[in-house]
Formats: sequence, C-alpha cells, structure tokens
Amino acid sequence: MTAEYAVQGNVAVITLNNPPVNGLGLTTRVALTDALARALADGAVKAIVLTGAGKAFSGGADITEFGSPKAFQEPNLLSVILAFEAATKPVIAAVHSVCMGGGLELALGCHFRIAAPGCNVALPEVKLGLLPGAGGTQRLPRALGVEPALNMIVSGEPVKSELLFSLPGQKLFDKLATSPDTLLAEALALAQDVADVRPLPLVRQLPCIHPQGDAYFQFARNMVGGMAKHFSAPLKCVDAVEAATKRQFDDGLRFERDTFVNLMWTPESRALRHIFMAERAASKIPDVPADTAQRAIKSVAIIGAGTMGSGIAMNFLNAGVPVKMLESRQDALDRGVATIRKNFEAQVKKGKLKQDKYEQRMALLSTTLSYDDLKDADLAIEAVFEDLGVKQAVFKELDRVMKPGAILASNTSTLDINQIAAFTQRPQDVLGLHFFSPAHVMKLLEVVRGEQTAKDVLATVMALAKKIRKTAVMSGVCDGFIGNRMIDPYGRQAGFLLDEGCTPAQVDKAMETFGFAMGPFRMSDLAGNDIGWAVRKRRYLEAPDLKYSKTADLLCEQGRFGQKTSAGWYDYVPGKRDAVPSLEVVNMIEDHRASLDITPRKISDEEIVQRLVFALINEGARILEEGFAARAGDIDMVYLLGYGFPLWRGGPMNYANEVGLFNVVQAMQRFAQNPLDDAAFWQPAPLLAELAAEGKTFS
Ligand code: NAD
Repeated sequence: MTAEYAVQGNVAVITLNNPPVNGLGLTTRVALTDALARALADGAVKAIVLTGAGKAFSGGADITEFGSPKAFQEPNLLSVILAFEAATKPVIAAVHSVCMGGGLELALGCHFRIAAPGCNVALPEVKLGLLPGAGGTQRLPRALGVEPALNMIVSGEPVKSELLFSLPGQKLFDKLATSPDTLLAEALALAQDVADVRPLPLVRQLPCIHPQGDAYFQFARNMVGGMAKHFSAPLKCVDAVEAATKRQFDDGLRFERDTFVNLMWTPESRALRHIFMAERAASKIPDVPADTAQRAIKSVAIIGAGTMGSGIAMNFLNAGVPVKMLESRQDALDRGVATIRKNFEAQVKKGKLKQDKYEQRMALLSTTLSYDDLKDADLAIEAVFEDLGVKQAVFKELDRVMKPGAILASNTSTLDINQIAAFTQRPQDVLGLHFFSPAHVMKLLEVVRGEQTAKDVLATVMALAKKIRKTAVMSGVCDGFIGNRMIDPYGRQAGFLLDEGCTPAQVDKAMETFGFAMGPFRMSDLAGNDIGWAVRKRRYLEAPDLKYSKTADLLCEQGRFGQKTSAGWYDYVPGKRDAVPSLEVVNMIEDHRASLDITPRKISDEEIVQRLVFALINEGARILEEGFAARAGDIDMVYLLGYGFPLWRGGPMNYANEVGLFNVVQAMQRFAQNPLDDAAFWQPAPLLAELAAEGKTFS
C-alpha cells in the first residue's frame, strides 16, 4: 500500500503511505494518480485532501530510484503534479512533520495548502548537487516571494511551517493548523469552505517579480558563487529562480528541467549522491541483521581523560548519557574536566550552547580514581597511552569489575584489537571504537570488529553512533584499520616526492588545490610527526622490504614533531597554526637528496596528486578485497569524514571510478617505471587490476 483512499462525507482523503517518509517512488506515483482519478470520477466527492501517514507528509523522491530510469518513468513526478494541478475539484494538501523536495513540489501543485505547526519544509536537492526538478524553482518563488524562496532553494535547509506562514504576503500556506493532531479535521473543514471555489487557484498563475530584478540576482550570484566554489548547482538554482521572474511559467519549467538533467550528469552531483547513499549504507553490516537485539547503553565509563578521552566524553554528555571518567592520577582527571569545561564554554560564548544546557551536561559527568566505581557502566571506552602493556593493565581491570554484558572498547589507533580482547575473559564483548581528533567535532567513528566481537555488540554500537551523531564505518582488524592503513602508502609517496625534487609546501599546495583540507605534511605536523615515526619504526622491523624515504625520520631526529613543538615540516609561531615554510627543512631535504646522488627534477602538480591519490586507491582496493571494509563506499566515508578528502570528489574510491579504473592502472604502470619510485609499490591490487581489465568500477 503506498497511497490510501477513503471518503469522509463529500471529501476524498488520499493518504500517502510509503514508510519511512512517504517517498514518491514509481508505485506511489501510480497509486497517487489512481486515487486522484477515483476521486474525480466519484460524483459524491466535492473536494480532495492529500496528506501523509506516519512521520511525514512526504520526504520527496525515492532515493533508491536515483540514477535509474524508474525516476523518469511515467507517471513521473512532473506528470503527477500536473494531474493534481489540473484536477477539476479542489485539492487541499495537508502537510505535517516533513514536507521536502518532491513532497513540497507536489503540495505546490495542489490548489490549497494547510500546514501543521512544526513541519520542516525544504527543497534540499542542492545538497545532492541538483536543483528541484519538478517545478519547485518556478512555484516556490511565486508562492513565497523570490528572496525567501531563493534562500531555501540555494541552502536546501528546512524552515518551520509557522515561520513560513508568518512571512508577509506569502501564499504557500492558506492556513496554519492549530496542532498536528487537528490537521486532518481542519483540512476537512477547509475542504468544505473551498468546495465551490472556481476558478481553482493555481500557484503557476501567481505573479513572480522582484522589485530590484537584475541587481538582486547579481548580488545573489556574488554571494552564492563565493560560497559554492566547487559546486555548480547553487548558481544554477539562482538561474532557475531568475527564470521564474523572467519567463512564462511553462518556459521556466522547461528551463528548470533541462538544468536539472544537466546537473544529474555532473561529477559533483554523482559524488554527492554517492555520499548520501554511502552514508546510509555504512551503518549496515552485511552479516548483522537489522533486527539484531541491542544492549542498553545507559551510562558510559571512559578510561583516560587526555586529548581523546575528554573529547569522547563530550559526545555522550551531549547525547544525555552519563559519563564517569577514570584516571590514574587526580591532576590528570582535573585537567580532563577542565578541557571539557573549556570546550563547552567556548560553545556557550559562540551562542551554540545555552548556559542551562551546558550545566545539564556537566551534571552528567563524574570522575573517579577507582575501577570499582565503573562496575555499573554499560560501556567502557579506553583512551589511555598507546602502549599495549598499559592497555593490558586497563583491560584486565575492566574485565574484573565490569558487569556481565558490558561492552569494552578501545580507542587505539594502531594496536591489535584481537590481542586486546584476549586480555579479557570476554572477547565477544570487546571491540575498537576509533574516534578522530578532536573527538567532539569529527564525525567519523571507525568501529573495529574483532575476530570474536558479538553481533549484538556491533548492532549496539552502530545504533549508539547515530545517537552521538557520528557516522560509523566498520573496519576489520588490520594494521591502521581502514583510514591509517591507507595513510601509510600515501605518506610513503609523499616522502619519495621530496627525495625526487619537491618541497613540502609544493606537495601540500598541489593536494590542497585538488581539494584536500590539508596536504600530507601540514596534516602530519598537526597530528604529530612522532606518531608516524613510531609506526615506521615498527614497520621497519615487521616489513623490512618496504621502501621509505628517510626524510621524515631525519625530521623527527631533530625533534621537529610538528605544531606541538612549533617546528615540523614547517615552522610555527607558538600558539598559532599558520605553517611557515622552513629553510632548515628545505636544506635538510636537499642535503639528503645530495647524499643519495639524486638530481632534483621539476614535478608537476598533476603527478603529485595522482601519485598520492592513486596510492590511497590501491591500498583501498586491497582493504576491500581482503574483506576489512564491507564496501568501497565505506572507505570513501572514512576519507571524507576523517581525512579531509574533497567532498565534491566523493572519496578516493568514487574518484577512482570517475577517473576510470583503467586509467588509474595505466598511470600506476607509468609510475612503476620511475627508478626513484618503488616498482613493487605500484603493483595494482588484484581487485583493482581485475575490475580495470573488465571495465568495471568499485561500485
Ligand atoms: P593523551 O596522552 O592525551 O591521554 C592519555 C591519558 O591516559 C592521559 O591523561 C593519561 O594520564 C591517561 N592514562 C595513562 N595510563 C592510564 C591508566 N593506566 N589508567 C588510567 N589513565 C591512564 O593521549 P590521547 O591522544 O588522548 O590518546 C589516547 C588513545 O587514543 C591512544 O590509544 C591513541 O592512540 C588514541 N587516539 C589518539 C588520537 C589523537 O589524535 N590524539 C586519535 C585517535 C585515537
């Protein structure tokens, strides 16, 4: 059932019923037009109310139809809206909860609209690199006024129905219902009032003018163009709304349609749609059914109140979950609490957090020096020093005190979760929860599944991640998990580039121009060069055949650990984050190059970007084929949310698809010929080679 039909007195009520948000997929569209035809054919029906069952009027297009011909199959959304607009009996849209995208466009095609208060109204298509393609850019400016409509279309942000209803001169809503509960009754009453109104009012017939016309649209273009550098959709939204003010309605509709279809084919829109789907898919674990029972997480213990522990605590406090922090020393506890206070106070100062909410959050925080105080917690997250011996001591204590069924998690970045699980008598309850720094800001959470981690533990933390507003991606246990494992070859290539002739600033600039938030050297300075150093020292022992540039070690031998020592690949003024190119470092690189008898060559930005990004892609392909990531989209989410990969490129694996896997492999074969590079490094992962040969993609 996707649309229900009922008659109440002389009014037909059509109720969208396609959970969860009454998406307007093909079967729903067919059901809608059938119901409309039935109402029009019934002589006893004088008016029609269109509403939605459950949690929405309609959230818009059916996302599962994206990119498939079904989205265009008749009756497509435009045709459905035209049918409702052309109805010979008044149609009243009764909207509540969520009225977005195609749902709002459908409501705009109805003759009258009544909204429940609190309804979120939006045209969010721009967030997928598109514009509303079923009349939204032509009808909303007519109904709401050009400026508020343009703001909604360009931002994609939801606006509450009561706010829209209060705008002077608006014709979007004829009535605001008293409450969501009375919406239907009030819609039926409105239907009686308007049953005999003729001609039926149509949004398309409303005037659409802006008094400052050209000047306003010029201003809008400047604003929007400045903000949306890598995306064409926002400016196209301005074009379409301007068309609404300058063209006949049907001509404007055609312009909107053509623009919509063109945007569909842009790489940015493909990337944004990929991300939208990948984010939803990431929360699903193939062998953990959606109905797996979850454990209740009512309180959390955090062990270690340092950089990560205090940030992790804030996530739970924000979500209303009580947190108890444990440290080995009182001064460390005090420092952790002070960090949390300072971060919350900064949010209060910026007006992002109300004082009373801040106090409520702090009231949920308690501290202890004794493991026995943790015994009632449902989840413990360990964030102590990155040292297996220290972790062992912590997990033995946790195993001793925690109640049966409690989940024991480690925030380790590099250690083996299976080994940590083996420190306890309950490896089924142990997993990795790898937060990223700053943990109260970064959206990514790598959930590391140990060999014995129970399915209900995984189901629980995937749901918990949503509660604390993280995007969780599951990784198997491998060196560095998904994100840091891929950083290793990326860093190795960055090192080779220095040996061959680049400066750190040149490499960073090329990567930042490509779109990374930070190039590899600035990123390493931020994270601490000593962290990578420790990893390399271990890898020199474990994998002596791997080739690394020595420059990063030379840097660390000088104590240049990055921002925290005011010196790394760059120089830093204490307390500031601006990276100042360092002559000392450039000299060090040149001396090292000379010691290797290398004559530097000029390396193009294109080569820099390809070598670094293709290094990520190849390692991503290995992770995928070895089963440490469930999908290519999961790897993309890790890089987009944790490593500053440019959004409009959709993550490394999506970018590989865009470049073409064949082309990626060809370039890798070229790089393998470079005697200063490492031919073994550029051996394509079997999965990549196979997909490239078959002309396939990672999706
Ligand atoms: P940190 O040095 O800032 O904090 C560690 C805290 O643990 C200190 O406050 C210390 O007093 C406390 N501690 C040490 N031994 C303890 C014990 N036996 N019992 C109780 N408390 C103890 O370190 P951090 O940067 O917060 O890192 C913590 C963990 O998170 C590490 O495993 C690290 O690899 C991981 N991690 C760090 C980052 C990052 O960017 N800093 C990112 C992801 C994961």
